[in-house]
Amino acid sequence: MAARQFNPSRLETARIRRGLTKLALADSAGISSRMLAEYLSGSYDPPEPTVRRLGLALDFPVQFFFGGDLEEPSLHGASFRSLSTLSARQRDQAFGSAIFAVSLSRWIEQHYRLPKPDLPRLSSQGPEAAAEALRDEWGLGERPIKNVVHLLEAHGVRVFSLAEECAEVDAFSFWDRGTPYVFLNTWKSSEHSRMDAAHELGHLVLHWAIELAHSRETEQEAQTFGSAFLMPRGNVLADAPRHPQLRHLVAAKHRWNVSVAALAYRMHKLGLLSDWQYRILAIEIQQSGYRRVEPETQPRETSQVLEQVLRLSRDSGISINMIADQLNIPVSELNRVVFGLVLTSLPGTDLPLTRRRARPDVKRIQ
Ligand SMILES: [Zn+2]
Repeated sequence: MAARQFNPSRLETARIRRGLTKLALADSAGISSRMLAEYLSGSYDPPEPTVRRLGLALDFPVQFFFGGDLEEPSLHGASFRSLSTLSARQRDQAFGSAIFAVSLSRWIEQHYRLPKPDLPRLSSQGPEAAAEALRDEWGLGERPIKNVVHLLEAHGVRVFSLAEECAEVDAFSFWDRGTPYVFLNTWKSSEHSRMDAAHELGHLVLHWAIELAHSRETEQEAQTFGSAFLMPRGNVLADAPRHPQLRHLVAAKHRWNVSVAALAYRMHKLGLLSDWQYRILAIEIQQSGYRRVEPETQPRETSQVLEQVLRLSRDSGISINMIADQLNIPVSELNRVVFGLVLTSLPGTDLPLTRRRARPDVKRIQ
């Protein structure tokens, strides 16, 4: 076996993942900033006791720093929601979890056959038309979408959950070497998370050519896309309640499985609510606390691909701990990006059976 080689890029990944400045890390590990800079640049390898102190300061196991390079995703077309209220540190921290998720995704692709990405490029049209075009292309008609995460996965999007440290980050997405990725914060209501997923889908099909897809304009486009994709015009015009009170909206939102605020917004956009009606409803939604706690919320959507992969792996004797060992990534970091599905895939526990008709299909390669 080759001698263990300290890998400075892994030290940098761990630092970013923990949201520590270089100064804070040096302080916490009891070393000088100059020495830390030397270690990070690869000029010197830190002695074992220093690696241990760095590991403690970062809450990463020592062996993590001795693995091969973790490929950084290219993050092409990366977009963050609420970027304006997000610090660079929080953004980098979320990207840090993306590095681990992409490593896991590559491992999965080596061992399982997943649906191929088939997202069209729709940037030449407006967001409303693009949402309609994508529905057409995917044969969805005007039907409400049962499960947005499963739909994205069936079309080759890799969907992961965001760690709890990133509570300020709603969601983000990016393209990496032809594969689209979406990250969803599992701390939000199911309805908000579905809209986040549709919003990120909007970025992926509309803003794939933009280096950092984030401006007021692209945000608005993604928002309009998400709203139109989850609540198709004709369907809302046919089925939304006329002159609704708030309780009618709460009852009606289940049809599209969206938040009550999102339904009111869409109905206003489609002219089913006047400016005045919309303003009154928005105030009532605010006063009822529905912006913070969604009423009559539905169960959360999780990844079907990850569930199947973890189940199939477990059946062939491979636990997530073994995957983490192979990748030399702390298992706690993998657990954070797989929607907590690991809790249900411990040996000896039965997984809920996957519905027969449910897509996407995951197959072991060998
Ligand atoms: Zn966005």
